[in-house]
Amino acid sequence: MTESHPNTAHSTDILIIGAGPVGLFAAFQVGVLGMQCVLIDALDRPGGQCTELYPEKPIYDIPALPVCTAQELVDRLLEQCRPFGFPIHTGQRAMRVEQQADGRYRVTTEQGMVFDAAVLLIAAGAGAFVPQRVALPEAAALEGDSLHYAVRDMARFAGKRIVIAGGGDSALDWVLALRKIAAHTTLLHRRDNFRAADASVAEMRGAVAAGEMDFVVGMLDALQTQDGRLTGIVVKHKDGTHSLPCDDLIALYGLVTDPGPLANWGLDMQAGRIVVDTTAYETNRPGIFAVGDIALYPNRQKLILSGFHEAALALRKAYRVVYPDKTLVHVHTSNNATLRERIQHS
Ligand SMILES: Cc1cc2nc3c(=O)[nH]c(=O)nc-3n(C[C@H](O)[C@H](O)[C@H](O)COP(=O)(O)OP(=O)(O)OC[C@H]3O[C@@H](n4cnc5c(N)ncnc54)[C@H](O)[C@@H]3O)c2cc1C
Repeated sequence: MTESHPNTAHSTDILIIGAGPVGLFAAFQVGVLGMQCVLIDALDRPGGQCTELYPEKPIYDIPALPVCTAQELVDRLLEQCRPFGFPIHTGQRAMRVEQQADGRYRVTTEQGMVFDAAVLLIAAGAGAFVPQRVALPEAAALEGDSLHYAVRDMARFAGKRIVIAGGGDSALDWVLALRKIAAHTTLLHRRDNFRAADASVAEMRGAVAAGEMDFVVGMLDALQTQDGRLTGIVVKHKDGTHSLPCDDLIALYGLVTDPGPLANWGLDMQAGRIVVDTTAYETNRPGIFAVGDIALYPNRQKLILSGFHEAALALRKAYRVVYPDKTLVHVHTSNNATLRERIQHS
């Protein structure tokens, strides 16, 4: 990662907007095809949803990697594109896109960086995604201390009394994992049915029956604090309210997505996603491509491997925009001597 220098114009072949798994793999493809790119991401580190939402969860459907955690996948993608040395500017949210007289695009970030590129590859995932926060007055001050919207480090909950609020896969997965190390674990959900895998729900009910954790039906009504730390929560249910002592509250209510500035870039969008033509994942604006979860076409699946494929095809078309006078000769990486040399010496 590089330091960000506000107000400096950075010129490159391709600006990749979003350094989630798909943006990172796209950077590798840019290198393989002999082009240059710069990556930017609004977050303070690369990895997108993998790093932000489920770093310690295992992923099983990456080809030839039977299992790896989401963070391990990101680390491997960073390692794969490292030989090319492309800069990754984190903490930079693309805000404005303007096409210049020569057809190139000028992108300005909220933080003041300016980029000039022949091609834009938008790999912005869910756009600006943020966890749905607890709407109680004390919540903001506790965030990151005893109120959490993701589990980044399981070990910090060892020996703690924790409440996990939510009824989706993340809430169920974390309650099952953390009950093994926490002093006491409670799942709080507003009703007794879930939007989660049946197997996880069955495992949770078995753990409750075995006395390994509690399940409470009710709504979070208040946060109790002492000296700026959480000491418990008040739960509202059909018979009234009761308080539940705890050290940490993990609220997993899901994400609120917001296409944010993308909506002003003159792109065809539907339900916050960018409509693309599947021949090359190009948008309605020539030279602007969209890949990964942000892209929309019939039957698009929110899978990492789909984004990898889209990036590989989009960049082959992008090559023609960057080098209109050259012909791209297809060479497998296994036969690419320049690539082998670069990787061996990195
Ligand atoms: C709990 C969970 C489990 C999952 N498990 C699996 C699984 O097992 N297998 C699988 O294939 N998929 C899984 N997924 C889905 C997978 O994580 C996504 O499909 C994948 O992350 C999409 O990658 P992406 O790079 O397109 O977008 P993202 O990972 O969303 O990354 C997009 C990046 O773009 C950045 N960005 C957005 N707007 C801007 C802007 N204006 N300027 C700069 N940066 C911007 C964001 O900050 C973000 O870092 C799971 C998802 C979740 C939530």
